[in-house]
Amino acid sequence: MNLEEIFYQYKETAIAGRYITLSSIADLLLNNKGIETTIIGKSVQEKPIYQLKIGKGTTKILMWSQMHGNESTTTKALIDFINFLTQSEIGMQFQEQFSFCILPMLNPDGAALYTRENANLVDLNRDAQNLSQPESKLLRKTFNDFQPHYCYNLHDQRTIYGTEEKNKPATVSFLAPSFDENRTINAVRTKAIKVIVAMNDVLQVYIPNQVGRFDDSFNINCVGDTFQNLEVPTILIEAGHFPDDYEREITRKYIFMAIISGIESLYNNYEQEHAIDKYLKIPENKVCYYDVIYKNICWFEDSKLVVSSLGIQYKEEVKNAVITFTAYIEKIGNLEGFFGHLEFDAKKELYSDNLQNIPEISQKANFFIGKSINIVNGLIKM
Ligand SMILES: [Zn+2]
Repeated sequence: MNLEEIFYQYKETAIAGRYITLSSIADLLLNNKGIETTIIGKSVQEKPIYQLKIGKGTTKILMWSQMHGNESTTTKALIDFINFLTQSEIGMQFQEQFSFCILPMLNPDGAALYTRENANLVDLNRDAQNLSQPESKLLRKTFNDFQPHYCYNLHDQRTIYGTEEKNKPATVSFLAPSFDENRTINAVRTKAIKVIVAMNDVLQVYIPNQVGRFDDSFNINCVGDTFQNLEVPTILIEAGHFPDDYEREITRKYIFMAIISGIESLYNNYEQEHAIDKYLKIPENKVCYYDVIYKNICWFEDSKLVVSSLGIQYKEEVKNAVITFTAYIEKIGNLEGFFGHLEFDAKKELYSDNLQNIPEISQKANFFIGKSINIVNGLIKM
């Protein structure tokens, strides 16, 4: 399979960018032949939560996306995957072996508001035990009714993550969540690990060293930990940053590839040798990136010259259905061990701005370097 070609063949061109809401995808879900689409319930703000059933095979796979409303990349990739499943020959073969149950947008209110939490400001991924929210209850009911053999738990992660020792952005990260405090690797977790290893083997061809392994601290309030605890192998996929791809259209492709590679490994019943070792060799996710770093930049503090670095981070905000990225100064000081997705050397030129001429945390990243370089929203204005 040439996954790159397949992606562009089945990519859903009607959706793009970061702001993916229910209205972006509802028509696509309802108009797709070969899918049984039902509304399984409503969100806090009474938006429908859709469930798609595809395939008639004996291996049951439950997938859900956007339980965090502002994490839309995996939703895009899921829609691409659904196109692939329903329109390609291989997809038809997958449908013979698998039954897919897909909740493409578990948190439609958060998607509209562009927030992680739902409309009651609850993080649904910390509500797996309390089940205090309608969305959490619906996911759990779907899990109980469908009785999946595998779960795909789909998310986005921030641009701050890189891969330990590889010093690359973590464009995709995986986790086979723990089911106990000791982080035991039992047979159930091993099944999830084998799927992840298959996904990673494929991704390494395309994005070497840009795949991370997420921290496996146990938290039973997280859905993945709960489902793994209930003995269903659960695979967490995090869509992360690819250089210059703030719209996450490139990362979307790698998520698509990961989803398919995992399914293919089950389809072909790959016998993974040393899967646990291979899994543990995937570098850990590490917080080591800023969106932009300015090094060797100077200013005066109490008449003393300071030479330092600035770490700049974008905040994403939704305005009139468009996501804007506003750059703020997030860190001032020695940034050794940190990387910028973009880095500039200020060559010991003087910092100035329209305020105090001293950078402050949480200040918008609009300033000057020396006499001629104007930084607007974090970037050098040409
Ligand atoms: Zn998330």
